[in-house]
Amino acid sequence: MSGVADADPTEAFEIVDDGTRVAILRALAERRAEHPRDPALSFSELRKRVGTRDSGRFNYHLDRLRGRFVEKHGESDGYVLTPSGQKVVSAVLAGAYERGEDRGPMEVDADCFVCGAPLSAEYVDGMVRVTCEHGHGFRDTAPPGAVEDRRMEEVLMLADRVARQEIELAVEGVCPECFGPAPPSIVSLDEDERPHEDTTHLFVSVCERCGMTSATLVGCCVVRHPAVVSLYYEHGIDVRERPVWELGFVAEGPVVEGEDPLRLRVDVAVGDDAVALTLDGTATVVDVERSPA
Ligand SMILES: [Zn+2]
Ligand SMILES: [Zn+2]
Repeated sequence: MSGVADADPTEAFEIVDDGTRVAILRALAERRAEHPRDPALSFSELRKRVGTRDSGRFNYHLDRLRGRFVEKHGESDGYVLTPSGQKVVSAVLAGAYERGEDRGPMEVDADCFVCGAPLSAEYVDGMVRVTCEHGHGFRDTAPPGAVEDRRMEEVLMLADRVARQEIELAVEGVCPECFGPAPPSIVSLDEDERPHEDTTHLFVSVCERCGMTSATLVGCCVVRHPAVVSLYYEHGIDVRERPVWELGFVAEGPVVEGEDPLRLRVDVAVGDDAVALTLDGTATVVDVERSPA
């Protein structure tokens, strides 16, 4: 049996390393974007779009892609992308293999919850940062394709969305990059490791397959919890529209309620209402208390 783990990954990189083959994948992706219900391109249409004069050379490259990345479309003579081909071209178009243009720094209309200093945003070396002068704040990677043709404000909202999705997967024990197993855990920080004195613990997951490490503030683990979402909603706030760096409970350190087994409490308050969520050592919410009840 062959699985993802047995697949030869150099093959995918070899594909991306050749201009004609990438052009074929892009042409099929463009066609699908224009005509989602009729995505197939015939051999001659495809060759015309790619612009290769030599039919033999074109055929050689198409052949290399066939089976794994490109396939015949049903009964027709046309070609379409396979799901793997779509993945490769999506990654190419996202710019996952490129280095984007740096942006910012730009002022953000929010202050740091840790120290009160103003926050500023920038995109440098493929990383979005919303931080204060002391380095507190938010960081996440974003490929150039996420930044291109977007205003910095839109880039920030997108980075926030992506971070939430990633953390949701990580809390479930799934690597957000390769989807391998990544056991979630809460780790206690020594005093000299703490980004801030209140940050006694961090959420950390390390993928057993690719080694991708997610590390974030414990409060981030509960941003999408229904008790939190509904508390904000009752106060007329759609918490999805609030970036994590504007959520006070994320920046505030959790309250340690027990060491063995580990129990951490995150307090979320909106107006006079509050909800206290207790997490165990795997970042699972084990208790929710509403006040006033
Ligand atoms: Zn700060
Ligand atoms: Zn992984």
